[in-house]
Amino acid sequence: SLKITVECINCDVCEPVCPNQAIYMGSEIYEIDPDLCTECVGHFDVPQCQLFCPVDCIPLDPDHAETQDELMAKSLRLKALA
Ligand code: SF4
Ligand code: SF4
Repeated sequence: SLKITVECINCDVCEPVCPNQAIYMGSEIYEIDPDLCTECVGHFDVPQCQLFCPVDCIPLDPDHAETQDELMAKSLRLKALA
């Protein structure tokens, strides 16, 4: 999963581009649900939120490190639920 840092300026650019609806407005800044973020695996070649964020504040979350296989499995699980 990726995560949003305190550099976030709440511009709302990332939320609509997430294919997994993993991004939501938290108590102060936007946040990413690690159970829903597949790092865009299964949808796009590159993470869309990272691509569009104007202040570059969406790094990999070291607390939720996943392999490509794990991310693809998560994407398939989420698609099966959709
Ligand atoms: Fe959503 Fe992709 Fe960003 Fe994860 S990396 S929060 S799936 S846009
Ligand atoms: Fe915050 Fe970046 Fe998302 Fe804008 S695109 S709301 S600055 S994380």
